[in-house]
Amino acid sequence: MARITLDHLAHAYKPDPRRAEDYALKEINHVWNQGGAYALLGPSGCGKTTLLNIISGLVRPTRGRVRFDDLDVTDLPTEARNIAQVFQFPVVYDTMTVRENLAFPLKNRHVPRDRTARRVEEIAHLLDLTRVLDRKASNLTADMKQKISLGRGLVRPDVAAILFDEPLTVIDPHLKWQLRSTLKEIHRALDITMIYVTHDQTEALTFADKVVVMHDGAVVQTGTPDELFERPAHTFVGHFIGSPGMNILPCRVEGASAFIGSERVALKRPYRPLVAERVELGIRPEFVQLQPKGVGLPVHVRRIDDIGRARIARVEMNGHPLAASVPDGISIEGDEASLVLDPRHVHIYANGHLVTDESA
Ligand code: ADP
Ligand code: MG
Repeated sequence: MARITLDHLAHAYKPDPRRAEDYALKEINHVWNQGGAYALLGPSGCGKTTLLNIISGLVRPTRGRVRFDDLDVTDLPTEARNIAQVFQFPVVYDTMTVRENLAFPLKNRHVPRDRTARRVEEIAHLLDLTRVLDRKASNLTADMKQKISLGRGLVRPDVAAILFDEPLTVIDPHLKWQLRSTLKEIHRALDITMIYVTHDQTEALTFADKVVVMHDGAVVQTGTPDELFERPAHTFVGHFIGSPGMNILPCRVEGASAFIGSERVALKRPYRPLVAERVELGIRPEFVQLQPKGVGLPVHVRRIDDIGRARIARVEMNGHPLAASVPDGISIEGDEASLVLDPRHVHIYANGHLVTDESA
């Protein structure tokens, strides 16, 4: 087991790595603590798989170093790194039984036979594969095969980390929930560093203690699910996490006020003058309440959606679209209404980055 450190990591697949746009990974400095349950979350193409493959050694980085504890593994091959990796699509040996498939990673490493047998039973039990242990893998469904792949990833008790690359993609939706909580339980039981790659925020937020958000080849924020929700460090995080995501509005800041056009929004503290090309106000729909006309900032209501757990209004303020919560018992006559923003949850962003107490 190990702490994994990525030090000034950059990677370009294309031949001219001097061109910044050719980098799939830009400049990654990150520490994954021993025993953590991490999700690596970001849209398709942002570099998640590249990052995992660099940790496991399948891809050699253009620049930077990878360390497991104090050992520099950048030049070590995959086999020497003691990492288990589970891919998006099943990797199983069709000619072997499920039991033989699960035992394979241990057999390969000369683990004694009785210990292997016990460990295989244990993992099969966790993944509900006991019934099929002696069946040939070729006759099983895609769901089952992917469970075997998960089992092969989990079976080695001595690994430095287990990397999961969107492992539930082929799994049937109602099995997904169950497997995700199984993985979480396994994490608690084994105390192994797990990095779980996904583009799905629900998957990330339910699996992980810490979520690492990637955007365009860079890590933009690492935090607990609550931190990402309450205090997005970048407008991308605010927008990407939450449903609907954070409202982001161009604004002008003067002391403890932000102006959206001519409308004034109170801020929780004064700001020093901001020198930035782009200044924006961010607030999540959960902290903006729709009220009848005259109570708060004037808006034009476009529609109100009932999304089951809440009602969300789509409104326009000075021509800017916003999403707001509709409190129980509020009904709006016509399409004129107003908004009340909770100043404690209003954030200011300069060129996409959160302006913190330290920076202004
Ligand atoms: P993600 O897993 O987040 O979807 P990837 O790491 O697969 O992202 O890809 C990051 C970027 O690198 C993308 O622009 C992708 O097209 C590019 N890329 C990935 N693999 C290769 C490869 N083998 N050769 C060239 N470009 C690649
Ligand atoms: Mg990928």
